[in-house]
This record gives sequence, C-alpha cells and structure tokens, in this order.
Amino acid sequence: MAEKVLEVIGLNKRFYQKKKMFQDPIPPVKAVTDVNLTVYKGETLSIVGESGCGKTTLARCIVKAIDSNEGEVYYHNRDGEKIDFLNGDKKTFKKHRKDIQMIFQDPFSSLDPRMTVFDIISEPLKANFKLTKEEIEKKVSDIAAANGLNINYLRRYPHAFSGGQRQRIGIARALVTQPDIVVCDEAVSALDVSIQAQIINLLKDLQEDLGITYVFIAHDLSVVEHISDRVAVMYLGRIIEIAKTDDLFFTPKHPYSEALLSAVPKADPTEKMERIILEGEVPNPMNIPSGCHFHPRCSYATDKCKKEVPALVKIGDNGHESACHYANELNLKGV
Ligand code: SF4
Repeated sequence: MAEKVLEVIGLNKRFYQKKKMFQDPIPPVKAVTDVNLTVYKGETLSIVGESGCGKTTLARCIVKAIDSNEGEVYYHNRDGEKIDFLNGDKKTFKKHRKDIQMIFQDPFSSLDPRMTVFDIISEPLKANFKLTKEEIEKKVSDIAAANGLNINYLRRYPHAFSGGQRQRIGIARALVTQPDIVVCDEAVSALDVSIQAQIINLLKDLQEDLGITYVFIAHDLSVVEHISDRVAVMYLGRIIEIAKTDDLFFTPKHPYSEALLSAVPKADPTEKMERIILEGEVPNPMNIPSGCHFHPRCSYATDKCKKEVPALVKIGDNGHESACHYANELNLKGV
C-alpha cells in the first residue's frame, strides 16, 4: 500500500462580494466544493479542467496561500507524523511551511525583479533555517546547478534570463528547502513547447533523485499524460473523475472527461480526430445548475441528471472514481 503524504478532506472555498445599498444579496462564487483527495508519496497527481474550474484556487487553498472556508488538509511528514496543515497552530504551520512548496505559472511576474537570482533562491533558506553564509552559498549553488543554471550568473537579476531559465530559477527556489510536496500551478503553460519539454524532464529527474511528490495543475492534457501517475478532473469546483493516467485517458468514465480527451491532438496525422464540442458555456459559479452540474452541456443527460447530484464513487477496484449516474453504463471514448 502506497504511503499517504497529503490528505484533503471536504475542502470548500467561496468568494463573497460586497453588496451595495438596496441591492439584493449576491450569491457567493463557489470556487471549490467538497474536494476530497489523497496524494501518495513520490507520485504526480495532476488536476485538470477548463479555465475557471477551480484548480488553481484548490492549489492555493492546499498550500494555505489563501484561506479556505471549510475543510482539512493533513500533511504526513517523513517522521510519520500527521500534521494539520490548515487548522493547526501557527507554530506548526511555520515549522512545516517549507515542506510544501509551490511553483508558479508565470516565470516573469513570480520573480522579484529587484532581487538577484542568488537572493531569490536563498530567501526560503534564510526564512526557514539557521544557516551560516557558507552553508547558504553551497545549498544555493547545488540546487541551481541541479536545475541547469550557470552558478556564475547567480548575482544577476531575473531580467537577464530567458523564460525557461526563469522557470528553472522558480523551481530552484521551490526545491531549495527540500520539500516533500511541490504544487506546480500551470508551471509550464507560459513556456514554448521545446522549453516545456525541458522543464518537464527536469521535474521528472528531480522527482527521481529527491523523491518529491507533485500536485500538478494543468490544462494541457498532452503534458499531463506525460508527467502524471494519476489524474483528477475538475468541473465547476468539484472533482468529477479521478483515476490512474492510463485508465483515465483510455477508458474515461465521465462524459466531461471524454469531451476533454477528444481535443487532445493525435500523434499520427492520418488518424481522424472526432472532437466533441460541448454545448454552451461553463455555467456561472454563482448560479450552479441543479443535479449534475454538467447536465446542461452533457449529451447523455436524463431527467435524473437534472435532479440528483451524482456522488464521486468507485468504479471497479483500481482506484477509478467518477461522479456520473451512468459511469458503468456509458461506453465513453478515450484517446
Ligand atoms: Fe451526464 Fe448525467 Fe453523467 Fe452528469 S450524471 S455526466 S449529466 S450522464
């Protein structure tokens, strides 16, 4: 049985807007609703979905970059302790903050242009450890070299580096504290395809060497297929399917996943793509449809779908779960 490293239980995040005088109350934006997840040591769990589905908000709630409304996040550390990461005391959070790090989407805005690369990478070390100047120098040089950065350029500023190199700096900053878990929020989306491949290979190599667990937030399914052990699909703030990567890509059990997969480009140009075009827009998260939230866009929807919310339940015994009333009956197409 794989070892748990992160547990997310009943996580909810709503955004409230202030109403003006004499205005009717404004319903909250339900960005994340009842998310339950278990992440195992050394794996890459990808979270995918359209823009606005809540995946980045979920990532930020997990690392406590923003407060959630309800829910729990437990981190299982190397000593076998179960740490209440969200609701524990400040001292516990401060102690374990370094163990869960984040890599951000935009390598241009996520680095302070007034700090040298050395200062950027060394900042988490100075904040979390009591180290000598020499120890900091060594750790920064080691992690920069492991990330393919030239250690002679560490006194330069971020503007002197290309997009790919800046993302390497962001990765070095996230990994310098030797975290157990790294949440990668669209970490390669802003990069050119060839640079994406380099960064993904770098992340995989670092995972092998350091035993890191990744929670990988992405919308590009080709990238996700390459890097993930398991994939969770989000729609309107909920997880609607989760499975091992091959199971999800070849035998999806939710019509929304089937539609997403139909847009994945085929490696063979002679192979015909039958793209499923979803009807309508993603519904307003302030006014979520009744029953199955996907029913207004689902070509398999029935009356039951309009009334009853499908629970995320196990399909078979290989860890595949789907939130569709007809998951066992529909013959959905994978890649
Ligand atoms: Fe479609 Fe109904 Fe399944 Fe929802 S429950 S995905 S509407 S078939």
